[in-house]
Parts: sequence; structure tokens; C-alpha cells
Amino acid sequence: MNFSNERTEKNRANATRRRVLGSTLLLLGGCRLPASPARRSPEWAGDVAAFPAVRESARVSLRRLPNGMDEERLLVEAERAMDGVVGWLGPERSGEGRVCLFVYRADEPEGVRLRNGRAARGVFFPDGNVMAIAGDPGDERFWDVLRHEAAHRALRRCGIEQLPFWLDEGTATLFETAGACSANPRRRPMARHLAERFGGLRLAPILTKFRPRSRDGAAYAKAWSATLTLYLRHRREFADLARSKATLVPFPDGRLGFPAGKDGVEAFEEETTRLLLAGDGEEK
Ligand SMILES: [Zn+2]
Repeated sequence: MNFSNERTEKNRANATRRRVLGSTLLLLGGCRLPASPARRSPEWAGDVAAFPAVRESARVSLRRLPNGMDEERLLVEAERAMDGVVGWLGPERSGEGRVCLFVYRADEPEGVRLRNGRAARGVFFPDGNVMAIAGDPGDERFWDVLRHEAAHRALRRCGIEQLPFWLDEGTATLFETAGACSANPRRRPMARHLAERFGGLRLAPILTKFRPRSRDGAAYAKAWSATLTLYLRHRREFADLARSKATLVPFPDGRLGFPAGKDGVEAFEEETTRLLLAGDGEEK
């Protein structure tokens, strides 16, 4: 995509930016689930047991891929994203099984259904430990989506489940670029939009306006921005917080960890937001 011709007069530029942002986020949106109930369950990806492993890595069991697709790269890219998350928020729980990976070409029927009009799209079902990706491997967005879904899986491997939506999506988005945590260059229009709309990357106005259950493009943008800030400014503190959430061990200062379920998610979100806003407006 070419974003260089967006600016003419101001209103039109704003409208264009919204459209570009929207379409970029739709393409990169990752794990949004389609409305059809049939596709909300792991059975959507087929009877997992009927697909023996084609090839496996430490954390991934590749169960299905189209002819001619690079098996090795699929595993390497997924592992790399998981390494990034584990390097930040690990250690991993012991006894974690491999995630079953199903891959579809953009133009085969399952691929068309899964993409749902986007260039590439993926889903991750924590309960079934299954992820499915559809798209064209010649398009970098396909690999973004693969790494994004693998990062969702890695969070669970670290025992961090039932996250606030923005933290789950924000973390997955941070690690969708090859290698370590970074800002995906294909997310740049989003960063520009945030900086222009909210004035730099001060977070108070972003979080104030954030609706955790919203899954629209702006929600992804805010999730990414807030999580990036956690990573850059509060890397260790957030890791301690997340481990406390994962393992229910006390904080270093002796306070107890978070309870399971909805209350725990809300308490975790409150602590995380406090951490974020503590560093808000600082230049680092
Ligand atoms: Zn996601």
C-alpha cells in the first residue's frame, strides 16, 4: 500500500487517514472471530486428530498446509514470535503441549472463509490449542498474522490467561514483526494517526477513551500503543505484574497476586493502567 498521497486539504486528509487506518487494521487485525457460531469452535479447523503432524518444532505442530508452502519457515516464524513473548514475560509453564497449526491458501475455500475479505487473517483458539492462518505467503501480512497468533499462544504458555483485551491484542501486535518486539512497519499509519490525534504518545487520553471490549481498528491502535509503552518504559515492572497474574504468587512487596476470573482481570487491568499512567508524558 502507498500512504504517501494522503494529504490534500485537511478534511479530506483526515477522511483518507481514517480509511487507510481502517483498512490496514482490518488486514492486520489478526484474531477477530467471524460471526458464524460454527467457526467459533476448534472444530472449524477440522477434526484435529484426523490431521497427523506434518512437521513439529518445540512448540508448534504443523497439521495442515497447502502444497508448495515453506514448512520450515512456518515453524521458524511462529517460534520466533513465541521466543519474543517468553523472553519478556516467561518462564513458560512446564507440560505445555504444542499448538496445532492449520494453514490455508488465500484462494482455497477455507482460506476465503477465514480471510473474510482481508488479505491475510488468523485465529487462535486457546481452548483447543489450535491456530489457523490464511493468506498468501508472498505477502508479508501473512507472516505478520502468523507471528501475531503465535504470540497469543505464547502468552498462555507463560500462564498468562484471561487478559484484558487490549493487553492480549497489544502484546500479539508487538511481536508480529520478525525477531524481537518492535513496531511493525505495516502499522506505521496507525502510529501516525495516534500521534496526530492524541498529541504525541501521551497515554492518559488514549486510555480514557479506550473501550476494552471494542474490536474496531482504533482499539487495536490503542492496544498496540499502550503495550509498546509498557514494553519500553516498564518492561521489568510489567513482567513482575504479569507473572504475579500467571502464578498467583505475591508481589515482591508482599501483596497477594490476582484472583482467577473476571475479578482478577479487572484488578490486573487496574494495576497495569496505573503503571502506564505513572510514566505518562515522560520523554525516555
Ligand atoms: Zn489478536
